Amino acid sequence: MQVESLDDPIFAAGEAYRDVVNIARDLIKRVEPRQNEYLRQIFEEQRFPEEVWQLMAEAGFFGLMIPEEYGGSGLGLLAMALVMEELSTAGFGNAMAILTCMDTAAILRGGTEEQKRRWLPPIASGSWKLAFAITEPESGTNSFRMRTEARREGDTYHLRGEKGWITGADVADYILVVARTLPYREVEERGLPRTYGLGLFLVERDAPGLSVYPMQAVGIEGYRQFRLAFDDVAVPAAHRIGEEHEGARVLFHALNTERILFAATAVGMAEFALRRAAEYARQRKVFGDTPIGAYQGVQHPLARVRIMQEGARLLTYRAARAFDRQLPSARIGAWANMAKYQASEVAVAAVDRAIQTLGGQGFVRENHLIHLWTAARLLKTAPINNEMILNFIAERELELPRSY
Ligand SMILES: Cc1cc2nc3c(=O)[nH]c(=O)nc-3n(C[C@H](O)[C@H](O)[C@H](O)COP(=O)(O)OP(=O)(O)OC[C@H]3O[C@@H](n4cnc5c(N)ncnc54)[C@H](O)[C@@H]3O)c2cc1C
Repeated sequence: MQVESLDDPIFAAGEAYRDVVNIARDLIKRVEPRQNEYLRQIFEEQRFPEEVWQLMAEAGFFGLMIPEEYGGSGLGLLAMALVMEELSTAGFGNAMAILTCMDTAAILRGGTEEQKRRWLPPIASGSWKLAFAITEPESGTNSFRMRTEARREGDTYHLRGEKGWITGADVADYILVVARTLPYREVEERGLPRTYGLGLFLVERDAPGLSVYPMQAVGIEGYRQFRLAFDDVAVPAAHRIGEEHEGARVLFHALNTERILFAATAVGMAEFALRRAAEYARQRKVFGDTPIGAYQGVQHPLARVRIMQEGARLLTYRAARAFDRQLPSARIGAWANMAKYQASEVAVAAVDRAIQTLGGQGFVRENHLIHLWTAARLLKTAPINNEMILNFIAERELELPRSY
């Protein structure tokens, strides 16, 4: 994060943000002596160090989006985005923190007073980790066609179906599961909007009937992915977030949160890569006494990425600020999607150029760039692929017709 960016007029309460950034930097200083060991753990063992999660908790990061009456500080999403960017700049991007925050946003938007009192304080203190499950093997990007059903019987919903790619299902205390409260077929037959008939449920990770199977995937730093099978999982109606059949309204709010925080993480990844590349290019000499960083063939691609990164950074802050100021959701959605698109493209370009700059060293595990390439590359595909973002922007911003 460039602190000067906070002087921009879009940031009214600059001081509070500056404090949060400084707290994040102090945390990074504290873990610096063990940084290489932690990064090896994160990238090679897909295990995020619990000590770092605890330090994040002590710093109050998990309460940044949560109002004071529920145990947080209420600073908002921009503050959390700044933290995610800082941590990612040091190689400590944390998807579980992002998923926990998106679920937090869902609870804040759609939860009852009782639900807020129950779930938010343990989230704010960092005691609970939350995962998020929407993707299914069959429906993929077209989530509305999901098959997982939540059938209501009295005060209990019965969940049946399957989810895939669910990050951190092994370490989560709860999983926010998106399920159909009305089957898609019925929604189509009755001519209802396809967003109707969705429910969001906070499901205990150890709930009877829920099986969790590891998947062999990479891409999320420090966490693994799982397939979830719901075999008549009983979930109390009190765990449903949002009005019956109206989960989509809460869902979009949570998805915006996720996109903005992944954008911030991607901006941080680009920073990590650019710093490593510049540091190496200043020292490395292969022809005479001239460091490779003096060659414009090395400089210009890095400078180009740096320019694009600043654009992605400002777009991310703008989206987060719009979210905190509760601007119309269409506006937040447009900026959140643009930020995620731009930041993921920049992260991939930055890591790619950094690898090129380091030559053979770019492929040495302990330089972590080759690992980071996978993590950066994932962000063009997930949490939403960049083609869907282009579709969305073309339709919403340019009023072009829809083809799918
Ligand atoms: C490491 C990892 C972690 C993940 N974590 C989670 C998680 O925690 N929770 C969760 O719910 N999901 C998670 N996912 C799932 C992820 O969100 C999906 O993989 C992603 O949204 C793409 O869905 P899909 O794989 O089914 O691709 P598909 O829907 O099969 O699409 C394949 C490709 O087709 C193209 N495409 C599809 N539709 C269109 C269209 N209309 N226009 C243009 N192009 C199109 C895109 O390029 C897309 O990448 C994770 C995935 C990975 C790989």
